[in-house]
Amino acid sequence: MTITVAIIGSGPAGFYAADAIVKSVDNPVIDIIERLPTPYGLIRGGVAPDHQTTKKVAKKFEKTALGDGIQYFGNVEVGRDVTLDELREIYDVVILAVGAPADRVLSIPGSDKIGVHGSAAFVGWYNGHPDFVELDPDLNVEAAVVIGNGNVALDIARVLVRSNSGRARTDLPPYARGAMDTSPIKDVHVLGRRGPLEAKFTNVELREMLELTEAAPVVDASHLPGSVPDDMDDRERRLAERNLETLRAFSERDPNSMPKRAHFGFYAMPVEILGGERVEGIRIERTKVEGGNAVGTGETFDIPCGLVVAAIGYRADPIPGLPYDEKRGIIPNDAGKIDGGLYAVGWIKRGPSGVISSSRPDGAEVAEHIVRDFPSGGSKPGRDALSGLLDERGVRVVHFEDWKRLETEEEARAAQPQPREKFTAIDDMIDHLEERG
Ligand SMILES: Cc1cc2nc3c(=O)[nH]c(=O)nc-3n(C[C@H](O)[C@H](O)[C@H](O)COP(=O)(O)OP(=O)(O)OC[C@H]3O[C@@H](n4cnc5c(N)ncnc54)[C@H](O)[C@@H]3O)c2cc1C
Repeated sequence: MTITVAIIGSGPAGFYAADAIVKSVDNPVIDIIERLPTPYGLIRGGVAPDHQTTKKVAKKFEKTALGDGIQYFGNVEVGRDVTLDELREIYDVVILAVGAPADRVLSIPGSDKIGVHGSAAFVGWYNGHPDFVELDPDLNVEAAVVIGNGNVALDIARVLVRSNSGRARTDLPPYARGAMDTSPIKDVHVLGRRGPLEAKFTNVELREMLELTEAAPVVDASHLPGSVPDDMDDRERRLAERNLETLRAFSERDPNSMPKRAHFGFYAMPVEILGGERVEGIRIERTKVEGGNAVGTGETFDIPCGLVVAAIGYRADPIPGLPYDEKRGIIPNDAGKIDGGLYAVGWIKRGPSGVISSSRPDGAEVAEHIVRDFPSGGSKPGRDALSGLLDERGVRVVHFEDWKRLETEEEARAAQPQPREKFTAIDDMIDHLEERG
């Protein structure tokens, strides 16, 4: 008999899983349940607004959403509108694809001051994620510090120092673009506790800093090693060599050749946020790297700044009734299997690392589990039972055709060359759908 599948979360991992199941299971009925009316998870709410080419992968997922046997249930939050236990009762298979949306916390003295933000909140704000629209960070500052040495830190720094005309080609919502366009920010410091060889930047993103029209990337040449040590594995070595070459190009730039600067500070461990109620600076301890770890040297210096964004990683939220791995910030699983009929894919399964396509193998793996675990098909009602429950509870489900109407409106109301002007409030999305009947 047909297998009924509920996938919780419509980010890349959810869509890759749906795609893989359709290809390996006979006539499955798959419902993708998403807490926001809008699909695509971090493609919409995380990927940088000036990386529109990356966001185009959503078109591929749209094809999946419109495929036979698949239905999108947007604006339905598991834990609020329906419980995980209820889904497990009415579906043969439940797949967690809820990502890792919470910031790893910066726990140094002063990190509760006004003007200190986690990257999930800050990126969510500038991407128009309804949860973070109210963040309203004060960008009326001349210097900002971004803590972290991964691509998220690069995204934040780049978006902050990009030219106004560059930002006009993005889908930054008007409130964020306005705040950035009028901000007096001149200097953004990207800080890593370890050195350039340990940085997690991908080279394409790092090189983009050389293409900015109003900001010069700056690095202290004395922090750049002459060569990459022999004991690195081949992949790491190639990345480190390319990044080192790019950083050398930064070090040859005149910091004053542009009105703004993005400073790359290595061997720099934040130890205290300075200021009164608001952040006024950050105290840094100089480090050295020993056995791959940053070790403080006792030498400190201060960087004056009015904004600090900690891009130090993400963690999944614990889910009531399921075990939780505190250290990794994930739901423990065995190659994606949690227990009979319950599986995990994407960041909640593996932790917050990798690119969009890194979740594709998770989908294939879960499809294999299903084929193995349900040799004679399924027996549970799935979609009709879910629709019945949601009707009873008065939940306004946003189906895929509703989302397409929202998307059409976002594109229609954008002023060229903006690709879209996003809805950023759930009420506005629902009002738009209700008004147009
Ligand atoms: C700031 C940032 C920038 C990035 N930029 C890039 C990039 O340029 N290129 C690249 O390849 N990768 C990028 N990535 C990585 C990429 O976004 C992730 O690898 C990918 O999104 C992880 O997919 P996921 O489906 O596991 O999680 P997510 O994309 O987070 O999707 C999870 C979905 O689950 C939904 N959800 C959560 N809880 C519930 C619930 N209770 N009920 C219903 N739905 C729920 C969420 O609303 C969300 O839609 C970036 C990541 C970040 C954080």
